[in-house]
Amino acid sequence: MSATLVENIQMVDLKTQYQRLKPEIDAAIQQCLDRTDFINGGAVREFQQNLAAFLWANRVVTCANGTDALQLAMMGLGLKPGDEVIVPAFTYVATAEVIALLGLTPVWVDVDPNTFTLTAENVEKALTSRTKAVVPVHLFGQCADMEPLLELTTAHKLFVIEDVAQALGSEYEFADGSVESAGTIGHVGCTSFFPSKNLGCYGDGGAMITNDTDLADRLQMIANHGQRKKYIHEIIGVNSRLDTLQAAVLNVKLPHLHDFNRQRQIAAACYDSLLKEVPGIQTPVVTASSSHVYHQYTLTVPTEMRDGLRAHLQSHGIPSMVYYPLPLHLQPAYYDARFPAGSFPVAERLSQQVLSLPIHTEMVAEQQELIASVISDFMTDKKLIQA
Ligand SMILES: *Cc1c(COP(=O)(O)O)cnc(C)c1O
Repeated sequence: MSATLVENIQMVDLKTQYQRLKPEIDAAIQQCLDRTDFINGGAVREFQQNLAAFLWANRVVTCANGTDALQLAMMGLGLKPGDEVIVPAFTYVATAEVIALLGLTPVWVDVDPNTFTLTAENVEKALTSRTKAVVPVHLFGQCADMEPLLELTTAHKLFVIEDVAQALGSEYEFADGSVESAGTIGHVGCTSFFPSKNLGCYGDGGAMITNDTDLADRLQMIANHGQRKKYIHEIIGVNSRLDTLQAAVLNVKLPHLHDFNRQRQIAAACYDSLLKEVPGIQTPVVTASSSHVYHQYTLTVPTEMRDGLRAHLQSHGIPSMVYYPLPLHLQPAYYDARFPAGSFPVAERLSQQVLSLPIHTEMVAEQQELIASVISDFMTDKKLIQA
């Protein structure tokens, strides 16, 4: 085993991936520099079309980051202060942040213990006369179970805003065998091109995906100061744009997204087989209805061992991360007396049990073998001590 490979294990390896794509990426950036079309340049329009085609969607509207995408989507759908928006308690804060910023009311629901995503059953229990929208988050790369959710949201005339920041390229299969890309199933999908996402640019970036062309026109307007015609502001908007330089990078990387996701799936399958016999370790559960693109490879570990395992990995130079250590309803900024500790037992337990391992497009089997053997040693030792 090469020393540098195992000394150099990272959660994400952006550098090696860049080196692989360097000629194409450098040329795309140089072209943008030569054209100096830095704002709303040709590469942005091209990327919007490319991503729409890639996802079999009618329209893509790019914006400055994934958090803005969620905010713009909620503005574009006309959500108003006081409207309730249902979100999983176990997700990244961005999902909830924009709800609060717009004066909407976040309503948390618990998540499925296997997929870590919200369920129609839990959403149904949270419905009130003020509920206007639901935000399924396709956490870690796997779709929430959309079919039962859509039945519920259609019956109650609710908007569905998919947070697809971690699952771009994932696909959901309906009972009738039809398949749709994550992000195109609800009214609008919101994604991020943060560098470490499955499709990442070299700075911040985001996009909204929709089949509704009127909504797409409105989103485009809102992202650009509420104007369709320069200096005529029809509605209140914001300034949220994807830089042309970032679009140029994304145009190079998009054709590789299926390969990137496949490389992550291969790495995940390797972890699955290395870890399946390890006592106490639960590897990711993949459902029949969704592919998993492994933005994260997330284990669950008994609560009393999780932090010890993380420290043990660290002592062997192996990074790991806890996404996310505190569910949203327990975050000081989002405290709401209706949802005290104990309200969402699955989210609360997961926050104490999840551990995400290094996964990216450049993983090599030797690194994964080392990681698995360090985990196995720790868990087997612990089991002996407990026995
Ligand atoms: C990354 C992420 C976002 C936000 O994206 P930014 O581009 O960082 O604003 C939103 N939701 C989820 C689930 C994410 O992982």
